[in-house]
Amino acid sequence: MNPLGIIIKIIRNFSAAIIFLVGLIILFSGIVLSLTVIGLIIGVPLIIIGIFIVILSIFVRGGKFKHTGNKKPQVIVFCKNCKNSNTQSSRFCSKCGKEL
Ligand SMILES: [Zn+2]
Repeated sequence: MNPLGIIIKIIRNFSAAIIFLVGLIILFSGIVLSLTVIGLIIGVPLIIIGIFIVILSIFVRGGKFKHTGNKKPQVIVFCKNCKNSNTQSSRFCSKCGKEL
């Protein structure tokens, strides 16, 4: 594993934790506000926003918004004969059949 990947992972986990915490604070302040009659108007939307942010932080941590496919980058090899792009794993060109 390269050091840059570890740094990105730490930053992602750290930001997810902060978002999660902010979501919880909003959620609890919403619950507290809901205990009063006037606060109910502000409190209920705050609870909804808080739940949404907590769910969002779980998605950020899971890396759902990032490309999961870039863990194993596919190396493209161009055919010398027809310039067709092939994956490194393939031995023969998928277009003209010539050996790569
Ligand atoms: Zn070819």
